[in-house]
Amino acid sequence: MTTAQRVRRIKPSPSTAAAQRVRELKAQGLAILDLTVGEPDFDTPDHVKAAAIQAIRQGDTKYTPVNGTPQLRAAIAQKLKERHGLDIPAGRIAVGGGAKQVIFLALMATLDAGDEVIIPAPYWVSYPDMVLANDGTPLVVDCPEEDGFKLTPQRLESAITDRTRWVILNAPSNPTGAAYTTAELKALAEVLLAHPHVHVLTDEIYDEIWYEPGEVPSLAAVEPRLNDRVFLTNGVSKTYAMTGWRIGYGAGPAELVTAVNALQSQISSCPSSISQAAAAAALTGDQTFVRECVAAYRGRRDLTVKLVNDIPGLSCTPPSGGFYAFVNCTGVQGKRTPAGEEIRTDEDFARYLLDSEQIAVIHGAAYGSPGYFRISFATSTDVLTEACERMARACAALR
Ligand code: PMP
Repeated sequence: MTTAQRVRRIKPSPSTAAAQRVRELKAQGLAILDLTVGEPDFDTPDHVKAAAIQAIRQGDTKYTPVNGTPQLRAAIAQKLKERHGLDIPAGRIAVGGGAKQVIFLALMATLDAGDEVIIPAPYWVSYPDMVLANDGTPLVVDCPEEDGFKLTPQRLESAITDRTRWVILNAPSNPTGAAYTTAELKALAEVLLAHPHVHVLTDEIYDEIWYEPGEVPSLAAVEPRLNDRVFLTNGVSKTYAMTGWRIGYGAGPAELVTAVNALQSQISSCPSSISQAAAAAALTGDQTFVRECVAAYRGRRDLTVKLVNDIPGLSCTPPSGGFYAFVNCTGVQGKRTPAGEEIRTDEDFARYLLDSEQIAVIHGAAYGSPGYFRISFATSTDVLTEACERMARACAALR
């Protein structure tokens, strides 16, 4: 059977491909240090599991409303109110099977062939393919490390065309951990206010995993004049170690939310009733778990950044949030491995780390930014320390 063009336009996620490669090598008996993982290494908290078990016991095992249970949408509305002061009625919130699905549906609901989506690079690997799968055109804007890996008002202005439908802002970012300050968001908002046809999809999935003082600002709260143009997306996967439960959400303009729900009604009818009960418990329950995770991530971040910056040839800017470090490896490009092979690209270097020292990382080109690679520090300090030692050895062996 021939597949549709939209399928032929997309490639499998590089992170899923990397995870598969790691599994294969482990199955061969190799002791791989896996730094590719995009999910917390903690278990879902017990009170969240208990809420799911309770939901099963009391028979909450049927279809829910398409847009999610009233309890979960109320919990999300309450979070948006408490955290950002946003008054978003529960009717303007759509719950889906992970933030990934919600983002995909928002693009599906709005893109026609040739519509452009501005994607600042480094970007989360899925955005360009999600746009392509929905007939849109990804317009990747390079945001160099000198700019903190962030979109500047000038770059935004020059990327906007008559066909621009969306700008995607992911902060804290996967893969860099960078986030916009309130002043930076205001400056971007000034540009956006001059282009009323452009909407903004904010991906705030790492918002609670934050190392700077205060809280990471959200565009919808910073610039109320953009409120009818911002679709705020988030979920419980990263904050509550619930990646397998598949609950994410989007909040924004009524028309868009209605369209997302219309698509969801034909795709999955609704997200899992049991997972929704768990997500509501996560959002409304005790937040000690989140604080403990962030404290652990912070220690791992500090350790990783220090150890990486001690390695000649590598460097990394400390991430402000999330659990990834985006490491600059341009300093080793052009060198040769002990086997005489030249390290021409970040992909060559990632392969060399895997072959020589069994360290799995994801090369920067997968995120639209060659010359880098991503380390996930959602793993133990022992693994991180060992991995950095091996990385130092691998770099020292280059000539
Ligand atoms: N956005 C970003 C930036 C992510 O890193 C991820 C998870 N890798 C997601 C969205 C999707 O999260 P989920 O679908 O599990 O809610």
